[in-house]
Amino acid sequence: MWIREGECHSCGECCQTVNVTVVRDVTLRQHGTVEELERYLKYRGIQLVGEDVDNNCLFYAIPIACDQLTEDNRCRVHGTPDKPLLCMKYPTEPDGIEQCGYTFRRATVLDRVGS
Ligand code: SF4
Ligand code: SF4
Repeated sequence: MWIREGECHSCGECCQTVNVTVVRDVTLRQHGTVEELERYLKYRGIQLVGEDVDNNCLFYAIPIACDQLTEDNRCRVHGTPDKPLLCMKYPTEPDGIEQCGYTFRRATVLDRVGS
């Protein structure tokens, strides 16, 4: 379990890409090899950015910016019911975005006692 610290400083990075998780074994059965899968995805502008073998997942990144992001990196729907749930909770774990104002540390026994 992760403990989140810090705050959003509106860099807008997390709004530039759609991240998708797919089932690893099904996908690799369809495509044969990782190289074949990467070739297929590359033609569509999709990047294979990681995998979690234990949990049978592959992670894709699709470079499509959200159309609710303003030129100065503000969210047009922030504070309204139109903001997607995922965006309201994000980030809940480290996501590899260097600019992000949030950091994470593993929960300790003391955190669990205090919660
Ligand atoms: S809805 Fe707002 S927070 Fe969510 S991706 Fe779009 S601009 Fe970013
Ligand atoms: S990457 Fe982090 S700091 Fe940047 S907009 Fe997203 S949540 Fe905020």
